[in-house]
Amino acid sequence: MRLDDLRLSDLLKFPPDGGVIRFADRRALIVDADALGTLRHELVDLLGFGAARAILTRMGFAHGWHTAGANRELPFTDPQDWRRAGGRFHRLQGQVDFRPVPPEDRDPLALAEALWPDSYEAEQHLQLLGRSTEPVCWTLCGFASGYLSRAFGSRDDPVFCLESRCVGKGDAVCRMVARRASEWGPEAAHLADALNHRHLDHVLDFAAEALRSTEAKLERSRRALARAVPDTDPSGCIAFSEPMKRALGLARQAAAVDVPVLIEGESGAGKERLARVVHDESPRAAGPFVPVNAGAIAGTLLESELFGHKRGAFTGADRDRVGLFEAASGGTLFLDEMGELPLDVQVKLLRVLQEGEVRRLGENVARSIDARIVAATNRDLEAAIAAGRFRDDLFYRLAVVRIRVAPLRERKDDILPLARHFLGLARERTRKRLHDIAPAAANRLLAYGWPGNVRELQNAILRAAVVAEHGTLEETDLPEELRGTAVPRRAAATAPGTFATLEEVERAHVERVLDAHEGHRAAAAKALGISPATLYRKLRRFHPK
Ligand SMILES: [Zn+2]
Repeated sequence: MRLDDLRLSDLLKFPPDGGVIRFADRRALIVDADALGTLRHELVDLLGFGAARAILTRMGFAHGWHTAGANRELPFTDPQDWRRAGGRFHRLQGQVDFRPVPPEDRDPLALAEALWPDSYEAEQHLQLLGRSTEPVCWTLCGFASGYLSRAFGSRDDPVFCLESRCVGKGDAVCRMVARRASEWGPEAAHLADALNHRHLDHVLDFAAEALRSTEAKLERSRRALARAVPDTDPSGCIAFSEPMKRALGLARQAAAVDVPVLIEGESGAGKERLARVVHDESPRAAGPFVPVNAGAIAGTLLESELFGHKRGAFTGADRDRVGLFEAASGGTLFLDEMGELPLDVQVKLLRVLQEGEVRRLGENVARSIDARIVAATNRDLEAAIAAGRFRDDLFYRLAVVRIRVAPLRERKDDILPLARHFLGLARERTRKRLHDIAPAAANRLLAYGWPGNVRELQNAILRAAVVAEHGTLEETDLPEELRGTAVPRRAAATAPGTFATLEEVERAHVERVLDAHEGHRAAAAKALGISPATLYRKLRRFHPK
C-alpha cells in the first residue's frame, strides 16, 4: 500500500446499522465539530486560555502518538511511510486538510512544514470565542507534535509543532512548522510546559497500557452482549413485532404442557418454525420432530404414512411399514395443512387420538402411541366445520391451545429483521459481499403486501442477492412485483389507459403464487384452491409449447 493510496474506506470498519465503529482498528466516534467547539468554549471559560490550550494540546499529542504507533503496523510499500503518514491521517479524519510546503519555502530549521487549510479548530474557535491574538489550532498542533515525536523524535528531544499563521488569529490559512524541541526558542515555552515529557511519558505509558486492557475487556463484553442480545430469539424465530412476540410467548407456554397445539396462519407465515419451538422447548426435545404435510399426500397413501401398514395390506405394500405416529414416539408429530385432511382420514385420526393407540393398515395389533400432536392449518377450520368439511370433535381435540401466526403484512416490524437475516443466508449462498439493504429497497419491502409471507420474502431476498452488483441491495435488484405499483407483473406491461385482460391478471396471479411456493405446483394449486391438474392446464395455456 502506498501512502497516497490510503483511503478512508480502507481504514473505517463499521456495522451498517451503527454500533462500534473502528478507524485504523481503534474505536472511533462520530462527534460533530460543534460539540468539540462547545467543550473548548467551556474549558476556556472555566480554566482560562492557557490551561485550556494545555489540556487540548495534550489531548492532541496523545492522539498523534497513538496514531503513529498504530500506523507502524500498516502494510506500506515503503516501510518508512508510516513516519510521513500523520498529515494524511489528519486529512482522512476530517480534522484539517494538509499540503506540504516545498523545501525551498521552508523554515531552515524545520523538520516539516505544512499548510493547513480548513482547520475545524480555527473554525470552531472563531465561531464560539471570536478572533484570537494567538494561534488556536491546539489539538492539531498537539496531534502533529505527538505523531512526529514518535516518528522522528527521541525521549530527550521530542518534536514540537507550532503555527506560524492561523485562521483563528485572522490569517488566510494555517501554517504549521515542526522543529525538534531543542531548535525552538521561548515561542514554544507553552508547548514545553504542556508537553513536559517526563509527565507525558508517564501519561502515555499509562494510557497505552490502559488502552490495551480496556480494549480486551471491551471485546469480551461485546461478545457477551452479542450472546445476550442476538438478532434473533434463541429459538431462531425473528420476533420483533407484537403479534409474533405474543405467538412465540404462547408457543413457549404450550411447550411446557403436553397438550395438542393448533397453529393457524397463512402459507409461508412460519407455522412450522413455531411448531419447532413447541417441540424444542418441551420435555420431548430430545425425541424426534416428525413433520408431515397432509395436503401433499393423497388419501390412502396418507393413511399408510400416518398409521403404517402390514405387508400385503394393499397393492404395492410389499413390506411392513412403520407409520409416522410410531416414528414420532417420544417426540412431536407435526401435521401441516390439517384442513386438507379427507373426512375418512379425519375419523381414523380422531380414533387414534381418543384411544392413544394406532393400528397399522392390514393389522389387528394395537400399538400405543406416545407422540405429541402439533397441527397447523392455513384454512379457517371453523368455516370448514360449518361447511361440513371438517369434524368438530377432531377440531376440539387438536385445538387445546390455539396459536395464530399473523401474516407478514400484519407484522411489519419483522420484515426488515427477517430481510437482513435472509440477506445473511443469501450472502453465504451467493458468496457475494452483501452487507446492507438500501433505504429505497427497504421501503419497498415494507410497502409490499407479501401474499406468500416469510417464504416469499426469503425468495425475494435470494433473487435480489443473485442480481445485486454492489455491497448493498438496491431497489433495482428487487423482483419486479415489489418495485412496480400494486399492478401484477404481466398486467403492468399493459399501456397506460388500457386494462389488463382477465387472463393476464389470472396469469400474473398464478405466477406469483407459484413463485411464493418456490415453483411447487401441488402447493400452489392448494393455495389457489384448484386441483393440480387444473393448474397444469392453466400453465400449459400460459406457456404453449
Ligand atoms: Zn490554525
